[in-house]
Amino acid sequence: MKNDYDIIVVGAGPAGSMAARFAAEQGVSVLMLEKDRDVGYPVRCGEAISKAGVEEFIPSDDKWIAAKISKFSFNAPDGSEAIIDFGDAGYVLERRIFDYELARTAAEAGAEILTRAYVNGLLFDEGRVSGVKYEINGEQKEVKAKVVIAADGVESRVGRWAGLRNTH
Ligand SMILES: Cc1cc2nc3c(=O)[nH]c(=O)nc-3n(C[C@H](O)[C@H](O)[C@H](O)COP(=O)(O)OP(=O)(O)OC[C@H]3O[C@@H](n4cnc5c(N)ncnc54)[C@H](O)[C@@H]3O)c2cc1C
Repeated sequence: MKNDYDIIVVGAGPAGSMAARFAAEQGVSVLMLEKDRDVGYPVRCGEAISKAGVEEFIPSDDKWIAAKISKFSFNAPDGSEAIIDFGDAGYVLERRIFDYELARTAAEAGAEILTRAYVNGLLFDEGRVSGVKYEINGEQKEVKAKVVIAADGVESRVGRWAGLRNTH
């Protein structure tokens, strides 16, 4: 691991792994930091996704598909039901495997991935974000980057550390 990267990605969810992969494919140095021990776990998601949406980024693979979805059913409190038939429309994912596979594509493209690394602050240089502070194995560390991508999900704190309004 280096002290300085072109890009640091905070969070190894789908957004983080895709950002890390596409950046690494352009030949820049990328470090992705994930607070949990395992990428993709714990799962906090219903795991339903459209086939077209996912295939824009990764070819479908049975190992991360729990079920195929062809219809949606809306059920009202009065018992009425509306069924929408989409045909070959979507999947219920195995997010644990899916997220791991996305992170693997980022690693294959050259991104370094560090888990159990909880990002808890930003570094600033002349008012500009220049890296992150993170905790790993009880130790506080710092790593620098030209660009920091906050892909830390719905409970994102990176914007707050930067003094930005949190839009989530
Ligand atoms: C209950 C629930 C049900 C859902 N159901 C569906 C569904 O059926 N279909 C669908 O398409 N979407 C669903 N979603 C939404 C979907 O889960 C999100 O849109 C998707 O996970 C967003 O991806 P992301 O990469 O932005 O964030 P996340 O998947 O949230 O990934 C963020 C990552 O950042 C890490 N992280 C956070 N803070 C830090 C930090 N400080 N330092 C280091 N790492 C950090 C987290 O551990 C996590 O791994 C659901 C969400 C919830 C909560």
